[in-house]
Amino acid sequence: MTEEPCQCSDCQRFYREHDRLIREFPTLKQQQELNWASIQSFRTLCGKVTDELQKRLVYGDDKLHQSSEDGNNLNNEELETAINELENINAYLYSIEALMERIFDIKVSDKIEANFKEIAGEIAPDPLNIDRLILNRLFHQTPDFPDRKN
Ligand SMILES: [Zn+2]
Repeated sequence: MTEEPCQCSDCQRFYREHDRLIREFPTLKQQQELNWASIQSFRTLCGKVTDELQKRLVYGDDKLHQSSEDGNNLNNEELETAINELENINAYLYSIEALMERIFDIKVSDKIEANFKEIAGEIAPDPLNIDRLILNRLFHQTPDFPDRKN
């Protein structure tokens, strides 16, 4: 018997998101496109914020204080720390992107894609019910096993 997965709110949110991504993107091609878009959007946003923070650093505090009413004022040390961290993230994302390109070289036949869809339907039938998912895995032969949630 496998250990019961953590049920804290963060983990539950993760399970829901995880299963939603399987349910809504059930083929290899869709997963490739989804993850490519995800990495690209992550890089774009982090890159733009990094650029913006660097401008604030360059232009000093005058422009910075204009946005203080948003609770958005940072001193130079905070700016430099944030810029360094975001640059690290961007470097990692760039590495991931290079690996993802290798993943995108792979294509499978429609028959294999059908297998992806079938399995996706089995493991993520209801994104709001992790208990059902666990039961489906445990009792794969009896998909109508009663819900034990309560
Ligand atoms: Zn947890």
